[in-house]
Amino acid sequence: MSEAICPACGASGFEERESIDVAGQHSRYAPGDEQAQRSLTAAALETALTYRMLACRRCGLEFSDPMKAASATWCHFCYSSLGSREMTRWDFDEVIRRIPSGKSLFEFGCGYGPFLTLCKEHGISAVGADFVEGGIAHCLAHGLKAQLLDLDEAAAPADSERVSHLAAFHVLEHLDRPGALFEHARARALPDAELWVAVPSDRRATRRYGVTDDLDQPPHHMTRWTEPAFREIGKSHGWRLTETLYEPLSLRTALWSITYYSASYRKREAAGQLKNRWMERGYRALMLPPALSRRLTSDRQLSGLSMVAHFTRGDAVEA
Ligand SMILES: [Zn+2]
Repeated sequence: MSEAICPACGASGFEERESIDVAGQHSRYAPGDEQAQRSLTAAALETALTYRMLACRRCGLEFSDPMKAASATWCHFCYSSLGSREMTRWDFDEVIRRIPSGKSLFEFGCGYGPFLTLCKEHGISAVGADFVEGGIAHCLAHGLKAQLLDLDEAAAPADSERVSHLAAFHVLEHLDRPGALFEHARARALPDAELWVAVPSDRRATRRYGVTDDLDQPPHHMTRWTEPAFREIGKSHGWRLTETLYEPLSLRTALWSITYYSASYRKREAAGQLKNRWMERGYRALMLPPALSRRLTSDRQLSGLSMVAHFTRGDAVEA
């Protein structure tokens, strides 16, 4: 088995969190559709069929072993099996309102250009990059500036145009080499540039309550970030972490999550005691006061799905 090194801080001490069987994920992505499951598994053979998720003892980053992200073929099959999902836009709003109009921005993983479009509407001169050709073609056809770039493959450019702001929304957790994003960002940054990196929140309900979420596992997500992990990876690539923003959660959703993921609810559900809608509602109402109490105390940090790390350019420290 390979010697695992934390890709955020370089430490080698870790705890094993979970084992991931990719074929098992496929039976849940495409239930009942054996043809689709076989296609997904065949595509996963290009990378790996089993992974371990390790947690760094020093910075808390959880990372995959091996660090081999899904192939483009797998992503294509996976997304077509799952269909389109509603994307959260909280991170877009948080970032766009912090960038004055007239500034320049480079976005990693621009996809079909929703954030580039938002920049255009706000008078920000933006260029995007993505490794999916279809996304780039779509951006160009809609008057947006975009270029092909595979962060896991390409070296950081030596002489590219420098910008004042950089952003990457839900890109970092997909990379085999997360440091590449910070290297590339630095190569394109003006001396006082700011960088925003949005990833799944480490305070979201599934993480907090240790619930398996297939889409938050390899080969889909290779890393799970924490504030200390951001600080470490930033430090070794010349970026200083200045703040971490967490997506808020409405009281209603928070109480729902606290109840739904509680041990007593899971136990009753497994025993088939909550099949009746009224029984389920009654039980939920009964659980409301303790859920509220937890929200105000032990679970006050529970967040929505995303978090955004905000960096400013600092001096690079030798890793
Ligand atoms: Zn670490």
